[in-house]
Amino acid sequence: MTKITHRCPSCGSDDVCAEASAKWDNDKQEWIMSDVHDMITCQECGYDANVEGYFEVPLASN
Ligand SMILES: [Zn+2]
Repeated sequence: MTKITHRCPSCGSDDVCAEASAKWDNDKQEWIMSDVHDMITCQECGYDANVEGYFEVPLASN
């Protein structure tokens, strides 16, 4: 399977964050990510868009 990354269409960075919901796990005593939303924010330039607004590109293989 080809690994992909999400690239910011504004600045080209792949340092992007998706909004997500986390649920507290009583046993693990930590937050468990339960749902990833479609909104992505670029950590580099702050560009905000739906996941479809971001470029999905294959990760360069070494
Ligand atoms: Zn950006």
